[in-house]
Amino acid sequence: MKRKKRKEMNAIELRQVLKNRVLYLDCGHRFCLHPFSNTLVITTKGDFYCHNCYF
Ligand SMILES: [Zn+2]
Repeated sequence: MKRKKRKEMNAIELRQVLKNRVLYLDCGHRFCLHPFSNTLVITTKGDFYCHNCYF
C-alpha cells in the first residue's frame, strides 16, 4: 500500500490525526473531536472556526 500525500488525506485519516487532540481555533475556541462535538469549519483560506463563530 502506497503512502498517500498529505494533501490527499481523506476524512478517515483526518479523524485519526485529530483524535485525542485539542485544536485551538482561529476564533479563540478549542475544538476536541468526539461524537457530540460541534462542527469544525475549515475555510478555503485555511482558517479554523467552530460552528458558533462561523455561522
Ligand atoms: Zn468559536
